[in-house]
Amino acid sequence: MNDADSEVMGRLLEREGYGKVDFPEGADVIILNTCSVRQHAEDRALSYLASLKRVRKENPSTVFVLAGCVAQRLKSKIFEKTPFVNIVLGTDNILELPKLIEEAFQKPNEKVLATEVKGDLPKLAEGFWSSLSYGCAKNSELMGQVTIMRGCDNFCSYCIVPYVRGREKSKPVSDIVSEVEQKVADGCKEIMLLGQNVNSYRSNSSDFADLLREVEKVNGLERIRFMTSHPKDVSEKLINTIRDSSKICEHLHLPAQSGSNRILEGMNRGYTRQQYLELIDKIKREIPKISVTTDLMVGFPGEKKEDFEDTLRLVEDVEFDAAFTFKYSARPGTQAAKEKDDVPLETKKERLAELNELCEKMVLEKNRRLLGKVEEVMVERFARKEKKLVGRTRGNKRVFFSGDGKDIGELLPVEIEKAYTWSLLGRVR
Ligand code: SAH
Ligand code: SF4
Repeated sequence: MNDADSEVMGRLLEREGYGKVDFPEGADVIILNTCSVRQHAEDRALSYLASLKRVRKENPSTVFVLAGCVAQRLKSKIFEKTPFVNIVLGTDNILELPKLIEEAFQKPNEKVLATEVKGDLPKLAEGFWSSLSYGCAKNSELMGQVTIMRGCDNFCSYCIVPYVRGREKSKPVSDIVSEVEQKVADGCKEIMLLGQNVNSYRSNSSDFADLLREVEKVNGLERIRFMTSHPKDVSEKLINTIRDSSKICEHLHLPAQSGSNRILEGMNRGYTRQQYLELIDKIKREIPKISVTTDLMVGFPGEKKEDFEDTLRLVEDVEFDAAFTFKYSARPGTQAAKEKDDVPLETKKERLAELNELCEKMVLEKNRRLLGKVEEVMVERFARKEKKLVGRTRGNKRVFFSGDGKDIGELLPVEIEKAYTWSLLGRVR
């Protein structure tokens, strides 16, 4: 989400004649777009910001912008911690960025706090989403990201997102489709639709499955991905839409968070372990090739050894294709932060290591099942170190293979010859 927001900020400034530089030294404007989902992310952002003081000393006219969730959370406290910052820009204030930077050049000694969380999308959008031609995402010209909604209404008890990104707001279908068309015209072949909970997308009478069907009609678009799916909101209609589509990739990122019912309830996730497992069964029945990835957390307040073991069993039962694992981090202002963070850091670390070890073992086993199979791979680019090309399967697995690069951007059949935990090695058929 931050990556997509950074892209929008970059495009807005490019329209005003700015260009990107590779280093902060010598830049006229420095923007830090930050994440506050865990304390660690916030600490890293703030210590990096503090380290930029030397750049400020060398160039007193540089405009410093702190953007994103840390800005939204700490607001004017940022100026107390780091007085050289000119602008604190909240998550819903991106569109004001060019104007605020211009003003900061005029009045370098004024501090600007722009952190109003806008209640509704029209106020945020005002024709902007459809009128701005973003171009493609920075990582690869072939893959673009399109934010389809902002904010979140779920209030999982540990999560800061609803507080720093405000209430859920969906973009109109027509705006999303024209943004996708624009990206495809710019050369994108694959689009990632982004939202904190894409399954609760709603614009007039269209739900997420309806949106997918509209996006699918865009000529020249070859692959559609989306993230994140909340398990409580995955509908049969969505499963059938993925099953019946040739463009929607067979990959669901379906954060489980925990395998223990007691902890899931404390997290306010809205499903039980059984419901999660039933959902997985249903999805696998309809879409046998589905790749399921997840987020898991250890050390939530009150997590006992038995709860953690339930999470380990869940990993074994589901056989995830990848898992992002985290130590619980208390976020001020959230419901869970009112409870004692009672799992000692050492225990969190041990549980995380044990969980990672199991996940890696399971993922490798899963990858080995692809040996000898032919997968559709979109050729992305030459890998940085190896003299190989790299691309992704429809299930979002990274594959390295030999080639001369003429096929970059094409979908090729690749036979899987070697399986590792984080990647596959193959040969074009
Ligand atoms: N909207 C998505 C993800 C949001 S944040 C969803 O509902 O799943 C990405 C991941 O960060 C979460 O899935 C969760 O595993 C993790 N996370 C969020 N808050 C956290 C916290 N306070 N401590 C540790 N991990 C957290
Ligand atoms: Fe946070 Fe839950 Fe919303 Fe995801 S669904 S952003 S975890 S509150």
